[in-house]
Amino acid sequence: MAGEEYTRLYSWGNDPKRKASQHARDIIGDDSVDIEILDVSKWWINKTVAEYYSDGNIFCLGDMVYRHPPFNGLGSNTYIQDAYNLAWKILYVMSRRVGRGLLKTYSVKRQPVGVDIITRTNQGLRDHHLWMRAIGMTEPDVEKRKAVLAEFKDKGEVRRRRRQQFHEGIENTGTEFHGLGIEMN
Ligand SMILES: Cc1cc2nc3c(=O)[nH]c(=O)nc-3n(C[C@H](O)[C@H](O)[C@H](O)COP(=O)(O)OP(=O)(O)OC[C@H]3O[C@@H](n4cnc5c(N)ncnc54)[C@H](O)[C@@H]3O)c2cc1C
Repeated sequence: MAGEEYTRLYSWGNDPKRKASQHARDIIGDDSVDIEILDVSKWWINKTVAEYYSDGNIFCLGDMVYRHPPFNGLGSNTYIQDAYNLAWKILYVMSRRVGRGLLKTYSVKRQPVGVDIITRTNQGLRDHHLWMRAIGMTEPDVEKRKAVLAEFKDKGEVRRRRRQQFHEGIENTGTEFHGLGIEMN
């Protein structure tokens, strides 16, 4: 490969540097390519929300007040809406159209939305478990995962059952993929 290329990889479990190197080689399909892992950072699945978003003249928004898994596409959407809610209130107060009391409604309105999104996204994560299990992704052992995948090539009942489990798993994610408008929280 000529020159240098940089990419970001996701890996999980222990020894992330070694796993990321192996993962990169598997993707490239060439074990002779030199790979250097520049940095590894950990990311945890969370379910946390601040009890209030503002105190006096301090107003908080985004991931600093809620942490949740990336389901339903709610993280960026929500902080943009937090920002919008706060911005028009600041404009109204600074242009003296209303009193400062309006700013107190920011936390009152937006914090319950934070509670909703950490609840919804964590349920979204659980909703994915069925299809992952159906294709063997949740098996810790790679040989077992391969065996589960091989069942999809079976000619008879085994394959039918696997396909049905997979289908049910996909249906179980319906709230996430058919929840039109949920991002308008
Ligand atoms: C894997 C993954 C997938 C996602 N997918 C989606 C999606 O599909 N749709 C969606 O809407 N959301 C998604 N999100 C969520 C979304 O990325 C976050 O909710 C969003 O980026 C939060 O924005 P933020 O500005 O609050 O925080 P951040 O994006 O974390 O920004 C904070 C910034 O502050 C900087 N910073 C920190 N400390 C300091 C300091 N002391 N001084 C100066 N700067 C500092 C950081 O470097 C960073 O640039 C996903 C998140 C993850 C992890």
